[in-house]
Amino acid sequence: MKKMSCDLCEVTARGETFEDWMKALMPHYIEAHRDVMENGDEQGRHA
Ligand SMILES: [Zn+2]
Repeated sequence: MKKMSCDLCEVTARGETFEDWMKALMPHYIEAHRDVMENGDEQGRHA
């Protein structure tokens, strides 16, 4: 099992594959990085 850290902060999540890891990080992303999820590639730009 791999352990990787969030690419936006220090939080770590585990998963056997990258997909599992993404799934494990989803709740964290939604809670901590919701703006990134919503903005997609254009982060930091609020009109
Ligand atoms: Zn994070």
